[in-house]
Amino acid sequence: MSQKRALSRYERGLKTPTMFVYEHRREETSMLSEASNGGEPARPPYDLLIVGGGINGAGIARDAVGRGASVLLVEQHDLASHTSSASTKLIHGGLRYLEYYEFRLVREALIERERLLRIAPHIIWPLSFVLPHSRLVRPAWMLRLGLFLYDHLGGRMTLPRSRGVRLDRDPLGVPLQPAFKRGFVYSDGWVQDSRLVVLNAMDARTRGADIRTRTTLVDARRVDGLWQATLADAAGGTRTVRARALVNAAGPWVGSMLRDRLGIATTKQVRLVKGSHIVVPRQFEGEQAYIFQNPDKRIVFAIPYERQFTLIGTTDLPWTTDPGQVEISADEIRYLCDSVNRYLRSPVSPADVVWSYAGVRPLYDDAARNASAVTRDYVLDVDVAAGAHPADAAPLLSIFGGKITTYRRLAEHALEKLAPFLPVLKGNGWTAERALPGGDLGPGGFDSALARLRKDAPFLSAEESWRLVRDYGSRAWTIIGDARGPADLGESFGGGLTAREVDYLVRQEWAVTAEDILWRRSRLGLHVTDEDVARLDRYLRDRQRDAAPEDRREPCPARVALAG
Ligand SMILES: Cc1cc2nc3c(=O)[nH]c(=O)nc-3n(C[C@H](O)[C@H](O)[C@H](O)COP(=O)(O)OP(=O)(O)OC[C@H]3O[C@@H](n4cnc5c(N)ncnc54)[C@H](O)[C@@H]3O)c2cc1C
Repeated sequence: MSQKRALSRYERGLKTPTMFVYEHRREETSMLSEASNGGEPARPPYDLLIVGGGINGAGIARDAVGRGASVLLVEQHDLASHTSSASTKLIHGGLRYLEYYEFRLVREALIERERLLRIAPHIIWPLSFVLPHSRLVRPAWMLRLGLFLYDHLGGRMTLPRSRGVRLDRDPLGVPLQPAFKRGFVYSDGWVQDSRLVVLNAMDARTRGADIRTRTTLVDARRVDGLWQATLADAAGGTRTVRARALVNAAGPWVGSMLRDRLGIATTKQVRLVKGSHIVVPRQFEGEQAYIFQNPDKRIVFAIPYERQFTLIGTTDLPWTTDPGQVEISADEIRYLCDSVNRYLRSPVSPADVVWSYAGVRPLYDDAARNASAVTRDYVLDVDVAAGAHPADAAPLLSIFGGKITTYRRLAEHALEKLAPFLPVLKGNGWTAERALPGGDLGPGGFDSALARLRKDAPFLSAEESWRLVRDYGSRAWTIIGDARGPADLGESFGGGLTAREVDYLVRQEWAVTAEDILWRRSRLGLHVTDEDVARLDRYLRDRQRDAAPEDRREPCPARVALAG
């Protein structure tokens, strides 16, 4: 994914320090160095080697380790550094998919919406959407029917059901042009997408999974009924590991992984579809989002973002080159501005854009004619060694498509497919009711947790407390620890970020660079200055230099020796 401020000042600030960390690691630390490889005793094969630290890889790791499998997950960059941090951040059934008759997907996603709101109430919360009626795009009866299905397809629903609204009389209509007199309000959910990935990885680690970021699967082959894989780390070390099964959760790289790294032919194809978002200063009051229908039949969202901003997206464009190099184009910025300007009273212009990001959807290629129509449902493909007994089949499961919303169910389906080959996978799915780290907010949920933190840490501003509970839930207390005043939280890096939080993110959440912290573990990149970023870089560098060799090598506490 690429992320850029309009003036690209953040970009300038980031690249050097990120490279510095890699350089530093190359000199002193090679977690996977050839030298240490030879000295260690051979480790029994992992049950599961998962390639890809996006939402699907992290979700499968959590579920599998909880069922008794030994799991190694490798991510070539940071967790959620690609599609899983570039989404519109909705936990939704996908109202528009009803038009494509994707009833299975919408039903599953609506059921998941309810579950995810329960297991991660700190980072996932309800969001209401205002849908102005535009006769030129879809008739009112069609919207009413779609919303009726949306309210009922998923069964029991705790969110408010949809309703009609007179926009010319209701405060919800204030930001809109007077021509929009009627509309609808319906409910969905909001998610801090990259944090959802990290929390799944953390929970997997707590249960015994080995999570290796900045570690690339170079290639893998079936040898004697097992997968034998070569891994490379950012410090230049390589290592061979073995596993009974391999999961290809490489997102936009799923196809090239099969072809170039695993040497496996498949009839299934991935269709890469780029989607971009812009962030502009806040355009309207209130906590509701707006969903606007375009003349091209696409829809564009305008969503309150980080209190001071509005997030606008997205686009749907075919993408044929490197998924790691995706960026928003000037045409997309113009398209997104035009889309909201058909509805909003005060227009948005490209000059208002303070930040943008773009990502690539790894969709299953169902041969649809245009990018918006390609199915958002997922397909799981299992390849096994020809003619082998199930115990020696060395299965490979590849994931095509999917949504953040359906990741948990996708993981269950993936393990159902692998279970015949991995008897170690015990029991059925268990993740539907177990809170993710920090999600145990206690009685009274988010509001009570926030009130408790305000009482326990009165030296934090209301805004700081709110952010800590939103990002970390009950783990906010782990970060605050024994602090009795702001000085105890250490150096401040702007936007409320302190050394205590940075230390927590490095030790517990695999953060290495300022970019990891400011754009994925948090969204504080929007709230800090260039000077803040430079100080944070310096702090991370000094911290890395001064850390004990053990800490330097591996910031994760629960470590499982990696040996082939
Ligand atoms: C614009 C846009 C908007 C979206 N909006 C929503 C939304 O609102 N709600 C929703 O539910 N879904 C949404 N989605 C869909 C959702 O974001 C994706 O389905 C999901 O994030 C895909 O996750 P993934 O784990 O498959 O892929 P990724 O997150 O891309 O993870 C794959 C990982 O594999 C790693 N990898 C690749 N090759 C290797 C290798 N050789 N070795 C090690 N690691 C490797 C990559 O570095 C990458 O991090 C949106 C997607 C886009 C693009």
